[in-house]
Amino acid sequence: MNRLDNQVAIVTGGSRGIGRVIALELASLGAKVAINYRGGQKEAEQVAEEIKQKGGEALVLQADVSKKDEARGIVTKTIDHWGRLDILVNNAGITKDKTLKKLTDDDWEDVINTNLNSVYYTVSAALPTMQEQKYGRIINISSFVGQAGNFGQTNYSASKGGIIAFTKSAAQEVAKNNITVNAIAPGFTMTEMLQQVPENVQEKILAKIPMGRFGQPEEIAEAVVFLAAHGSYVTGQQINVNGGVYM
Ligand code: NAP
Repeated sequence: MNRLDNQVAIVTGGSRGIGRVIALELASLGAKVAINYRGGQKEAEQVAEEIKQKGGEALVLQADVSKKDEARGIVTKTIDHWGRLDILVNNAGITKDKTLKKLTDDDWEDVINTNLNSVYYTVSAALPTMQEQKYGRIINISSFVGQAGNFGQTNYSASKGGIIAFTKSAAQEVAKNNITVNAIAPGFTMTEMLQQVPENVQEKILAKIPMGRFGQPEEIAEAVVFLAAHGSYVTGQQINVNGGVYM
């Protein structure tokens, strides 16, 4: 028996980067995984194919999580397909970095809708089933920037700080149903999101990381696996996986 056999998981933004590795790791422990993507159909299908080749089960679901009906649709389609939902990983996220002076309303709303409002949409859709099952593991991917703030990221840091506050409040409400709600706050992690940052800025960032290197998606996925497979008495927490960049 694998640790997550017969469990059903959703990973939003599971087509690339951190979400891709989370989906693969959960599947390697036996979970059936719904992989959500917005535009990267080919990448999402490759993740599903990799899971299936190893004998697992996967479902690919296109949806823009910033839109409430589409985000909630990920949850209902997964439950319709597999009849339950055990693990919800809210991972989809974007950046639109600008100083406040240059930030537009669209930059603000896109980031808040994608990173924060999506968490409310999927969690509210998942709770009735998790409450009925008396089991659920909700894992929200925040960022150390939601704790520390960052120049040029008012929209992003507000969304990620909001995730931490949402997590603590939701955890209090649903603990009695054996549903845990936790956040993971990664530091700078080597994905396309970080690769967008100019190289000279990346060098300046590296100088501020006590461990002297960027994180790998696998190191974030390990924290997700811990919460999903071993964290039965852990709720309302923020787990920092950040190489010491924020202590
Ligand atoms: P990434 O490589 O840019 O991947 C983002 C993922 O989110 C993709 O699968 C993308 O799907 C999906 N996505 C974006 N907007 C979406 C939407 N509206 N609806 C559905 N899916 C959407 O990012 P990452 O670095 O892996 O980041 C994953 C999470 O970790 C994010 O929440 C991010 O804020 C957080 N994080 C990252 C870092 C870092 O340094 N990388 C640090 C701290 C926190 P498509 O390709 O299909 O659009």
